[in-house]
Amino acid sequence: MFAARYVPGQKELSLTDVPKPKPGPQDVILKVRAAGICHSDLHVLHGEVPYKESFTMGHEACGEVVETGSQVTEKFAPGDLYAVHGPNPCGHCNFCRSGHDNLCNDPSRTFIGLGQDGAYAEYMKVPARNIVKVPKGISPEVAAVATDAVLTPYHAIKAMGQVQMGSKVMIIGLGGLGMNGIQIALALGANVTACDLKEPNLEMAKSFGVQTVINSKNLSVLEPQSYDVVIDFVGLEATFKDAQNFVKPGGTIVLVGLGSATAPVTTASAITYQIRVQGTFWGTHIEMEELYDLIAAGKIKPQVETAPLKEVNHWLHELAEGKIKSRMALIP
Ligand code: NAD
Ligand code: ZN
Ligand code: ZN
Repeated sequence: MFAARYVPGQKELSLTDVPKPKPGPQDVILKVRAAGICHSDLHVLHGEVPYKESFTMGHEACGEVVETGSQVTEKFAPGDLYAVHGPNPCGHCNFCRSGHDNLCNDPSRTFIGLGQDGAYAEYMKVPARNIVKVPKGISPEVAAVATDAVLTPYHAIKAMGQVQMGSKVMIIGLGGLGMNGIQIALALGANVTACDLKEPNLEMAKSFGVQTVINSKNLSVLEPQSYDVVIDFVGLEATFKDAQNFVKPGGTIVLVGLGSATAPVTTASAITYQIRVQGTFWGTHIEMEELYDLIAAGKIKPQVETAPLKEVNHWLHELAEGKIKSRMALIP
């Protein structure tokens, strides 16, 4: 079958033929229907998040179950869509058992499409416990990108940022994640300020009814220290500095983006104003189920464009050049 594989040291994916995967006793085989492209793929390809071994990339996956392992008792109807919980938790460590399965610390787990074979292929293997049924009416491409481009901002904003009715929230970076982030913050009842450097993205943000949309070049017109929560979907030193500038005393900065390897904290103001800097990682299985209900109800409308999987290197390049307005999903 066709697969697009990461090879250590190569800046492009290798387009190749590999054997179709066989299920282990507790696995299912998905026929991939759509696979989203995430900026994290670029961090891997650019050597910022290196892996030593080759693997098929693609960590935003949706497909149909076409084969099950010998111990999988659940039945899967042809045509039903299932989405992959990419953190690939073990299901039995203490983090998994307490519902924090995104933090699973089983030493043998690897993320699907990041360290082990993922969705840029015709078929993929996933432990049966780590798929989620997609409600009818949601397209494969929306279901695929929701596994990360919606799940990550959902966890970051709701669980980590504790955003609620009336919270004043600043969202920095309106790409694949941030464009869904603004919708999630609005759905939670927040008053949202959204910023990016790219005008088309700012225009799209306006269409979701965001209260304040502003180019990041013009942030000086905003009141410093006036946001309960700032979500940094970029993670560059510059954006993290903006976040520290605009968060309220006692407020929270949620750091999502991996734009820079380090993000300096200005100690005097962080201490004087009791600023909380909160990391955030992907999201949980239960959150994934919640967000598909929100998508089915029309509360979050992920914007997705599609292209053939064979064009993956072209679209990775376009993403690196900042030419994608929302999210791109590839169809095998
Ligand atoms: P993306 O490329 O789709 O979007 C990034 C956006 O940031 C773009 O719209 C870009 O114009 C904007 N931007 C860049 N520099 C800016 C600046 N100086 N000021 C304001 N805006 C700026 O990327 P994405 O797929 O949405 O991913 C965003 C980041 O989140 C990446 O670093 C990715 O690796 C990371 N990520 C983290 C997690 C997690 O669990 N924490 C999960 C997925 C992705
Ligand atoms: Zn991702
Ligand atoms: Zn675990």
